[in-house]
Amino acid sequence: MEKIVSLCKRRGFIFQSSEIYGGLNGVWDYGPLGTELKNNLKQYWWQVMVRERDDVVGLDGAILTHPAVLKASGHVDTFTDPMVDCRTCKARLRADQLAEKNGVRQCPNCGGKDLTEARPFNLMFQTQMGASADPASIAYLRPETAQSIFVQFKNVLDVSRKKLPFGIAQIGKAFRNEINPRNFTFRSREFEQMELEYFCRPEQGMDLLAYWLKERIRFYEEIGISRKRLHVLDVPETERAFYSKGTFDIEYEFPFGRQELEGVAYRTDYDLQQHIKASGKPLDYFDEETKERFVPHVVEPSAGVDRTVLALICDAYDEDSAPDEKGKMETRIVMRFHPRVAPIKCAIFPLLRNKEALVAKAREVQALLRPHINVFYDEGGAIGRRYRRQDEIGTPFGVTIDFETLGEKGEELRDTVTLRDRDSMKQERVAIKDLPQLIPSKIR
Ligand code: ATP
Repeated sequence: MEKIVSLCKRRGFIFQSSEIYGGLNGVWDYGPLGTELKNNLKQYWWQVMVRERDDVVGLDGAILTHPAVLKASGHVDTFTDPMVDCRTCKARLRADQLAEKNGVRQCPNCGGKDLTEARPFNLMFQTQMGASADPASIAYLRPETAQSIFVQFKNVLDVSRKKLPFGIAQIGKAFRNEINPRNFTFRSREFEQMELEYFCRPEQGMDLLAYWLKERIRFYEEIGISRKRLHVLDVPETERAFYSKGTFDIEYEFPFGRQELEGVAYRTDYDLQQHIKASGKPLDYFDEETKERFVPHVVEPSAGVDRTVLALICDAYDEDSAPDEKGKMETRIVMRFHPRVAPIKCAIFPLLRNKEALVAKAREVQALLRPHINVFYDEGGAIGRRYRRQDEIGTPFGVTIDFETLGEKGEELRDTVTLRDRDSMKQERVAIKDLPQLIPSKIR
């Protein structure tokens, strides 16, 4: 994990937020490459979950949330973690993360045994709307994106004219005042979720739960996460939310242990019923065919963007060996990102930077590819070092413009380049004019 954290900083994937002021605990900023990776992940999720389906539409709800929404959903009263204070070192700890020795609870920081009783600690961030400080001005930063979907259910149903089963999808920030943010970005206080609320008839709930579990596993495979590091936990009834008739956690084997990436839960009609009760508004569905009016049930696949980015990084990290300039084998760090999510798809190198004709041709290739894929131009240093820098950030393809390209080694090679594959390190000679079709075809 240390190697991964260090690479993330060194190459600009993830930085500690407010680092120059000592850092803000549990909050992270994504650097240039992290931003590309994260955007690719979110776009792919949106592509398969919304755009390629007839039965799902999108929503982009507000972060600031009316307290009544979160009162009705249960978050104000029950969205808590039990918390314990260590009287010796003053650490604030999650009760379920205490160490235990011979049946005695201990502080995992200092080993102290003088601990307070567990108290509930609400995980929501509260803020104030407007100038007055009275309780009526309280608002919350949303702890999940799902609630705005439930609250807007009727509006979306009316405008989209969808029939059951259908879903509403959302990607956006969520905030939780986690007691112990840890494991790099895994448990953060500000993070992003990708959630789908898939509404259905009650009798469809269990089948759709199984359907969405399968779909979601396929998604992780499609973005390149190895199946053998993914696990499904069938959450036992005693550990599920009381309203859930079935929940699966999709877990990933992180270097720090097997942990949840996504929850796929059959939430019954709990959320809509709560909002009906609290708002007094009808959030029901009228089935034109059967002439029935009822409150739909819902299956929710809820994934974390940051946790998936971290899983992508952990899964991609690899070390092998490759020859250096003198042909001596050296250790190569290579991020084996699936081309679909790789921050940069293709690097473009003129063989020498002081040969004007090579540079001009390389710039031409850059301009040719830019409208199709994210490319990166690099002319600095020996070509082997430039390959290595791209391997380390997971760029799947590299194009080198050499003297053959200029026609100096025979007319038949004019306007051809070498196309290098990151994983096999093999190079093939291809025509420049074929690149705009060829490279995207290897990415999809
Ligand atoms: P955990 O048990 O790890 O706290 P959870 O079961 O409370 O997670 P959910 O409420 O089901 O999480 O949220 C759905 C998804 O949102 C999680 O699967 C995870 O990917 C993401 N998520 C939740 N909390 C955090 C967090 N503090 N930091 C980053 N991602 C998070």
